[in-house]
Amino acid sequence: MKRYHTTFWGCQMNEADTQRVAAELEKLGYTYTDTAEEADVVVLNTCVVRQSAEDKVYGKLGALKPVKAARPDMVISVMGCLVGHSDKQAQALRKSWPLVDVFMGPSETRPLVDFLRARELDKAAEEFDLSTMVTRYQAQDEELVLPSQDRGRVLANVPIMYGCDHVCTFCIIPYRRGRERSRPLDEIEREVRSLARQGVKEVMLLGQIVDRYGYDHGDYQGLPRLLRRLNSIEELERVRFLTSHPNYMTQDLLETVAELPKVMEHINVPVQAGHDETLRRMKRGYTVEDYRRLIERIRATIPNVAVHTDIIVGFCGETDEHFQGTVDLLRDLKLDKVHLAKYSPRPGTVSAKIMADDVPAEEKERRHEVLNELQSEVGAEINARFEGQTVEVLVEGKHKGKWRGRTRNDKLVFFDDPSRDWTGQLAQVEITWTGPWSMQARLPQPRRAEREVIPLLSV
Ligand code: SF4
Repeated sequence: MKRYHTTFWGCQMNEADTQRVAAELEKLGYTYTDTAEEADVVVLNTCVVRQSAEDKVYGKLGALKPVKAARPDMVISVMGCLVGHSDKQAQALRKSWPLVDVFMGPSETRPLVDFLRARELDKAAEEFDLSTMVTRYQAQDEELVLPSQDRGRVLANVPIMYGCDHVCTFCIIPYRRGRERSRPLDEIEREVRSLARQGVKEVMLLGQIVDRYGYDHGDYQGLPRLLRRLNSIEELERVRFLTSHPNYMTQDLLETVAELPKVMEHINVPVQAGHDETLRRMKRGYTVEDYRRLIERIRATIPNVAVHTDIIVGFCGETDEHFQGTVDLLRDLKLDKVHLAKYSPRPGTVSAKIMADDVPAEEKERRHEVLNELQSEVGAEINARFEGQTVEVLVEGKHKGKWRGRTRNDKLVFFDDPSRDWTGQLAQVEITWTGPWSMQARLPQPRRAEREVIPLLSV
């Protein structure tokens, strides 16, 4: 039996790419094992957004070295942002890690599939120089059959575009994932229909700037158009999308979200910092005031919407006053969720080249902690409003003996019901307890039968 193993680090895009590789390997007759050391093919899908993620890849490769020495037939493939879209980068990696057979850029599967097919045909693997990227855009015209370990999944990530043209000064993505490319609308619709037929109930549409979907083809209503198509898929219950950029959240898009019943009231729109000077240095292309107005517009257009954001603390040149701007912004806007990160310079980015990483590590930690605490209070306050309400939850599965699911606006809810399997079902539940990060609920209590009234007999 041929076995494969996949490990990924980083974002949902990497998770979706890994799923696609797994599906391709299963088509070739491989079955999944969760132990890399036992596998015939190991795929490591890498992330370079933080140094720690990069270090984990090197650690894993180091651990595989003696295994590969003992079993030279084992195939190791490294893909994703560490490899990027430059042949030079792949060549440098190949020098450092000769045990890797195939390097692939983000979202590529073909180099590995070609390599394995070539081996199966008994051709000498050395003849094939497949360890540099051979594909810049890979059409995905074959049906995506979910790999074995993902069958029965309720949620699936679907990349709808790749790369980014924005070049925010701190970000490595444009250098590693290349220029912005939108997948054809028909191809995405076909894929989502197929996922829905396989039991998936909710899809998360992914893009680095997902609200620019279609712009590279001159289609400025691309995302609203795609949402309308997906809204009509009968077996599908829910659609979400991330990550949006504040500058492309058109009114048309917001109204489409408000109108379509299967598109959730949930917008992820990173602000990154709450001071204009920091935003200028980051080259984000908007001001704090622009962002405040956008949040007002989102809330005015989409009832009950949840808004999530991303923040980087300790960016180059961020003073106490600049940081206070971020605290004030989050305190005023009271957003539903904040993804926090401490700035770490990534080699090759504009900030790493020309700006000093001048906020000490302890200060970054302190700022991270301040925002974490603030958001915990805000989250608790927002969630407390749900107590006693009945909400619709899409159940993803069980967690520590309870059913776990999310509301339309992405609140995490747990409830008890040993009487049936709720996986993939929509449940109406009543919220009984709320905390900053999650809520507890119960199924609505059956109404007590009204007591029979016995008329008094006159004697
Ligand atoms: S828009 Fe997002 S992905 Fe693109 S460069 Fe900026 S942070 Fe990176």
